[in-house]
Amino acid sequence: MKCVPELFGSMVFNESVMRDRLPKEVFRALQKTRRTGEALDPAVADVVASAMKDWAVSKGATHYTHWFQPMTGITAEKHDSFLSPCGEGKVLMEFSGKELTKGEPDASSFPSGGLRATFEARGYTAWDPTSDAFIKDDTLCIPTAFCSYTGEVLDKKTPLLRSMDAISREACRVLRLFGKDVQRVTTTVGPEQEYFLINKEDYARRPDLILTGRTLFGARAPKGQEMEDHYFGAIRPRVKAFMADLDEELWKLGIYAKTEHNEVAPCQHEMAPVFGTTNVAADHNQLTMEIMKKVADRHGFVCLLHEKPFEGVNGSGKHNNWSISTDTGENLLDPGRTPASNAQFLLFLTAVIKAVDEYQDLLRISVATAGNDHRLGANEAPPAIVSMYIGDELQAVVDELVTGKPHENASREAMSVGVLAIPRIPLDNSDRNRTSPFAFTGNKFEFRMPGSSLNIACTNIMLNTAVAEELRQFADELEAADDFAAALDTLVRREISAHRRILFNGNGYSAEWPQEAARRGLLNLASTPEALPHYVDQKNLDLFARHGVYSESEMRSRLEIVLEEYAKTIRIEGCTSADMLRKMILPACMAYSKKVADGAAVKKGLGICADTEIKLASDVTARTAALMEKTDALEQTLAGIPESAEEAAPYCRDHVIPAMEAARADADALERMVDRSAWPMPDYTDLLFYV
Ligand code: ADP
Ligand code: MG
Repeated sequence: MKCVPELFGSMVFNESVMRDRLPKEVFRALQKTRRTGEALDPAVADVVASAMKDWAVSKGATHYTHWFQPMTGITAEKHDSFLSPCGEGKVLMEFSGKELTKGEPDASSFPSGGLRATFEARGYTAWDPTSDAFIKDDTLCIPTAFCSYTGEVLDKKTPLLRSMDAISREACRVLRLFGKDVQRVTTTVGPEQEYFLINKEDYARRPDLILTGRTLFGARAPKGQEMEDHYFGAIRPRVKAFMADLDEELWKLGIYAKTEHNEVAPCQHEMAPVFGTTNVAADHNQLTMEIMKKVADRHGFVCLLHEKPFEGVNGSGKHNNWSISTDTGENLLDPGRTPASNAQFLLFLTAVIKAVDEYQDLLRISVATAGNDHRLGANEAPPAIVSMYIGDELQAVVDELVTGKPHENASREAMSVGVLAIPRIPLDNSDRNRTSPFAFTGNKFEFRMPGSSLNIACTNIMLNTAVAEELRQFADELEAADDFAAALDTLVRREISAHRRILFNGNGYSAEWPQEAARRGLLNLASTPEALPHYVDQKNLDLFARHGVYSESEMRSRLEIVLEEYAKTIRIEGCTSADMLRKMILPACMAYSKKVADGAAVKKGLGICADTEIKLASDVTARTAALMEKTDALEQTLAGIPESAEEAAPYCRDHVIPAMEAARADADALERMVDRSAWPMPDYTDLLFYV
């Protein structure tokens, strides 16, 4: 491998390249735009574009694309070459400021949830100068936001940027009350990415994996994850080679791939990057998922990012580590060493506690997908109930504030927020409660509900905006107070008392927790169709409108898109199941019972006892008949899926999924009865325990 510092960021038009290649004033103007979000002068944009193109061409690029994140959840790109004819059959390589800052992809084939009438199919992409341009596959990729011509957002990046502005604005107001002159506050995210690697040849023989990303059939392998021998285990040489190659590709793109290890399930792994600014972290995570798939292919693997590729072993998630920092380098979720910094920390902590309690529904919705429904509450991931774990040290502080009684030393007086000393909080806090969906881990929160394939923009839009709203309320109250210290003390005690129900330090996987949560009045939105309608609850419409993140029509359109996505996903799974049953599984079972019956006839003809063959052929035949009935039933259920997304989503959950599961039970039982060589696809042992 090449020298890592040399390799790192070599395909990124980053700050140091900008400094080298741009005239001083242009560099300064661009830096200002990157910091403050102010629009760039068109003349400056022309100079930047030309420098970007020269740099890209020097790296072998021939094309450019605006790289964006439509509501499909994946990234989209439309490549244009730099070529510009200049007469006499010759060409120049050109790229203007206008081409850099604005693109016009045809938006009509992206989901818009009714926002964009089909006759008005144009959308436009606008450059996000805070996320660096990069070269991928000889193409200069320019991270952009995607809107309709009437200004409505059609992507996941625009609202994320808006939510970051909202939290920055309100956090700066709060910090001013603590005497701090801070211009910009940013949220930071480090997303840990879980994934599976399986053999390409096996994948190619599984239509379910190809079409739905998960196995719809498959009897459990004799061994699963019960020996706990995979987690952090020695990494197989083939996988190690994949990881080394992945690191190199990610490093070239300036992605700080840091930690790699085996996960709990066989052939499951994880990659964690060093955290970064939220919009950049979201871009990088989208890129990471794409590069993982590409690099896997080179190593004869397929990378599965589905939340639940296999029954009976853990699925994959994506822990969203989240914090808030100032442009002066202060982490606002770090308790600090002095009572004064502790007081500021307590106010921000209170804002997060209040936000998570009041907007539990939004956090739940942000991770609600058909794939993730298999994980949440399945004893491998947090339950569908949102709660917070803050650790024993902070819990004691919070209890002291609420009860007014000192927590450690009964003889001393209870302290007010301004002078309360927070004990040192260990940074490995998280390991003490792995079952909590939202855990304080010393200087950040770790939200553990997101699924592995999720675009983290969604979760962070909710989180940023909800916390922004609480900070806004706090700033309003404290700005109006005569005695800041007293008002702060009153506010923190009042809000923590009001929202303490969201704090839960017990075992989130236990059977008692849902009952306890119900007593506390916490939401338990078990499935996606149950969670999604809360998106447009009045309080949520108000929240996003107030902070300029989404308008009501944008939210209604988003709801329609995600409901539709859910129903379509289940429909495709149902159709794939039926297809595999008719074309692969049923024929294999019939052929096998016939073969056994033929054997029985031959044996009988020779006067040899054929009872075993007859029993097996009869059992397989009986089970095949049952499976045939369930296949018919599944197909009828699929034919009955209602037109509208609002009706289709719960229908799919209540009818299609059970019909698929019923058929699978018979198919998996047959798989156990039938000769391995007669089974028409690789089984769980092949898939999970390759060498
Ligand atoms: P664990 O597996 O114990 O959860 P990891 O080390 O795998 O821990 O992941 C921790 C993640 O948290 C890393 O991606 C790290 O960069 C990120 N992180 C650390 N500090 C912050 C912060 N201030 N803001 C956001 N993310 C952070
Ligand atoms: Mg983690």
